[in-house]
Amino acid sequence: MSGGSVATAEPGALLGLYRRPEVVFVRGEGPWLEDADGRRYLDFTAGIGVTALGHGSPVVADAVRAALDDGIIHTSNLFRTVPGEALAEALVAAAFPSRVFFCNSGAEAVEAAFKFARRWARAAGGAAKHEIVALTGSFHGRLFGSLAATDRPAYREPFEPLMPGVRFVDAADPDAMDAAVSAERTAAVIAEPVQGEGGVRPLPPGALERMRALCDARGVALVFDEIQCGLGRTGRLFAHEHVGVRPDLLVLAKPLAGGLPMGAVLAAPHVADALEPGDHGTTFGGGPLVARVAGAVLATLADPAFLEGVRRRGARLEDALRRVAERRPDVVTEVRGMGLMWGVELTAPAGDVVARARESGLLLASAGPQVVRLLPPLNVPGALIERAVSLLEEALP
Ligand SMILES: *Cc1c(COP(=O)(O)O)cnc(C)c1O
Repeated sequence: MSGGSVATAEPGALLGLYRRPEVVFVRGEGPWLEDADGRRYLDFTAGIGVTALGHGSPVVADAVRAALDDGIIHTSNLFRTVPGEALAEALVAAAFPSRVFFCNSGAEAVEAAFKFARRWARAAGGAAKHEIVALTGSFHGRLFGSLAATDRPAYREPFEPLMPGVRFVDAADPDAMDAAVSAERTAAVIAEPVQGEGGVRPLPPGALERMRALCDARGVALVFDEIQCGLGRTGRLFAHEHVGVRPDLLVLAKPLAGGLPMGAVLAAPHVADALEPGDHGTTFGGGPLVARVAGAVLATLADPAFLEGVRRRGARLEDALRRVAERRPDVVTEVRGMGLMWGVELTAPAGDVVARARESGLLLASAGPQVVRLLPPLNVPGALIERAVSLLEEALP
């Protein structure tokens, strides 16, 4: 167990929604976080894949300063501003022909993608064509639509009824997929090319290709949720580039603005053309401050040399984790992932390993009850990879 360092409820005035350790972080630098006593922790969570350029990144800090110098951090979407328009152009140039909607979080982006898919599908198939097909092991967020498409009954059941019309299918079962996706009923199929919260699981080979073919044949929008696996995390700017299958809607968030809250939906032209002024909106989305920062972050992440470095460090991390699995087959049953997104499946509770690693100065996340998840900043110095993995190995039971 964690030796009493995990609080059972939130102290003070915060709502008790998290079970957080007692340590309080006051400073950050690159892959390091520092607590009030000056103790340093190697951060292999990167704020759940958000601070992709590390803490205190000069790329982020300079862009924040530039935005403050302009004196506009918010105008609302009543008016045009420059950074959001420039960021949309850069995202489209990096991804595929599309138009972009900005919002403030992952779940919000998923909800927007569902609305866009339904608006498009309804034009062709009427109100009946509204269902969403999601995958076993999925996570898409905690709001009523995104939660409805999240395969975690314990997260869903206390809040039912959620958005109706969601079916779950196993990505490895082509017959079940064929039966679930209907030309008459289905508006969208949503998939994470690498599932994050569900245990760090790359989808089975051929699954994305099969979904694409089925969606094309039945007039269904294919949505890729790359909130966690996108924007360089797998060693390509977008995870779907590994298989060369393009979605109709691409959902991004976590690392997009380097730690500031931002989400985005890229809609291919046929979907974008189905949308009209008034169909959706947001007060904060795509404001000049976050968009300026995201523009600087995207330029850094999309650099081919940067992505090559992610692949190189990713191979180094994979190698180190596989060696642990070889040494400890009694505890490690599988190592899964891509790039700098890895899960280590254990025979023991992941929470205990995460707690012990933290006590020795390494921050990890879990992804389900028996999977330890590693999401280092994408620019983590190579030498810290072996250091982190040896701290993880020492934390195994
Ligand atoms: C984190 C995450 C979300 C939800 O994002 P929030 O910003 O927490 O709403 C949705 N999908 C995936 C794949 C995620 O990892």
